[in-house]
Amino acid sequence: MDYPKSADVIVVGGGPAGAIAAYVVAKAGKDVIILDKKKRDRIGDKTCGEALDKPAPLLFKKELGLEVPHGEELTSPIEFLSFSSINLDDKLKAKTPAFLVNRLKYGQRLLKEAEEKGARIFGESPVRELILKGDQIEGVRIHRKGKPVEIRAKIVIDASGFVAVVRKNIPSEIKRSTEYEVPDDSIVATYREIVEFDDDHPLKNEIVLWYREDIPIPGYAWIFTSGPKRLNLGITWPKNIPYPEGKKLKDLYHEIFDEMYPPSTYKIVHSGGGQIPIRIPFASVVFNGAMLVGDAGCFVDPTTAEGHGPALLSGYQAGKTAVKALKKGSYRMEDLWEMNLEVMKGTGKTSAMSYIMQRLMAELTPKGINKVLKKKLLSQEELEQIFIDENFEFSLGTKIRKALKFFPNFTPLIKIMKAINRVEEVANHYDAYPEDPSGLDEWTARRNSLLGVQF
Ligand SMILES: Cc1cc2nc3c(=O)[nH]c(=O)nc-3n(C[C@H](O)[C@H](O)[C@H](O)COP(=O)(O)OP(=O)(O)OC[C@H]3O[C@@H](n4cnc5c(N)ncnc54)[C@H](O)[C@@H]3O)c2cc1C
Repeated sequence: MDYPKSADVIVVGGGPAGAIAAYVVAKAGKDVIILDKKKRDRIGDKTCGEALDKPAPLLFKKELGLEVPHGEELTSPIEFLSFSSINLDDKLKAKTPAFLVNRLKYGQRLLKEAEEKGARIFGESPVRELILKGDQIEGVRIHRKGKPVEIRAKIVIDASGFVAVVRKNIPSEIKRSTEYEVPDDSIVATYREIVEFDDDHPLKNEIVLWYREDIPIPGYAWIFTSGPKRLNLGITWPKNIPYPEGKKLKDLYHEIFDEMYPPSTYKIVHSGGGQIPIRIPFASVVFNGAMLVGDAGCFVDPTTAEGHGPALLSGYQAGKTAVKALKKGSYRMEDLWEMNLEVMKGTGKTSAMSYIMQRLMAELTPKGINKVLKKKLLSQEELEQIFIDENFEFSLGTKIRKALKFFPNFTPLIKIMKAINRVEEVANHYDAYPEDPSGLDEWTARRNSLLGVQF
């Protein structure tokens, strides 16, 4: 395999974030390569719940002419995301149109589209180190059959997922912040199986997040439809909390699901696991000559742990920013700052809002969540509003009606009202993201204080 000595842009990792970033750069006629450690025909394959929010594919259809997942790429359309706690009958459904996708097939199509625009893709090319000149990232070193190969670029995009090989190799004096180390309390471990029954299952067009007393929040179990006869069943567990004595995540999974779905009633189509970062994206995802996208930048919804859509959106923006910087011919942090501005006002903001919901769920505990569901404290419409509208507020009459439902124990209601107020403040803060790097430290400190956490 002949590697080029240099390219305009190197994208490390050809998952969703990397594939779309490379597509955008190649479409603009620039020279871009993707380096992935997997074999070329396996890139995109990932153990996953397979749910993909609609906004990114719809945006790509409108802006880039890329088809939304279809044919064999589409496992099932989804209409509802449901929250359930303790008892699966107590459920709050939110209308959340989404796709259930075959990760390999959809991922391979995006790579092919990028290739057709001129991107070059190199499988079996694990990136190990960075090439630096002073504080500027100037390329990467891969290891091919035991031999190091150096490739230089004006911009390196870290799309290597949870591994974040570029981010981890940036020296700490360049990173200037400890928030780039992701601690175990901001990671969930996962195990999941796709199972196939002989007959159709009753869960149509719906994905369910199930908060349970035996899983510490932000962990949960999930039940996703994966077509009429298949279910995608899984469990997430906070990495900082040890499993009960002598058990593995797979054992806990079986303790939860075997009673509902006896193993003799299905065949396992696929099983596996992985780790997901569930904090908010870093306050800045750009460096001199590099950008972080997808899981490498922690673009994941902290409550639902969905990262496919955020990976696509952040990759798209990194591609656009790279093209502008290439036209300008300058690759310092300031030249890539537009990436921060755009993603923080979009995915960054919704992640921070969702982080408040994640903390609220943990404070309520599964019992409290169950009470909220049982007393029907929130209607489907209200839940949808809270997720969509950062300025959402209950009227006084509604507040009183809700308070009466909780008489005489108002604690869960007060917690919910407080969280809703904080969502608005945090959203406003993200809208005021600094126009250049000079305002970053102050903005980050205020963000931490609003979220009540030191990232
Ligand atoms: C079990 C599980 C279930 C999930 N369920 C959902 C879900 O239902 N919905 C959802 O939206 N999200 C889900 N997620 C999260 C989602 O899969 C990720 O957020 C998303 O894949 C991130 O995309 P990415 O492009 O950043 O990284 P990835 O998809 O992880 O791709 C990274 C790529 O980088 C390559 N790479 C890694 N290291 C190197 C290296 N050193 N050199 C070169 N290449 C390298 C890898 O081979 C890979 O191809 C789930 C995750 C897990 C683990």
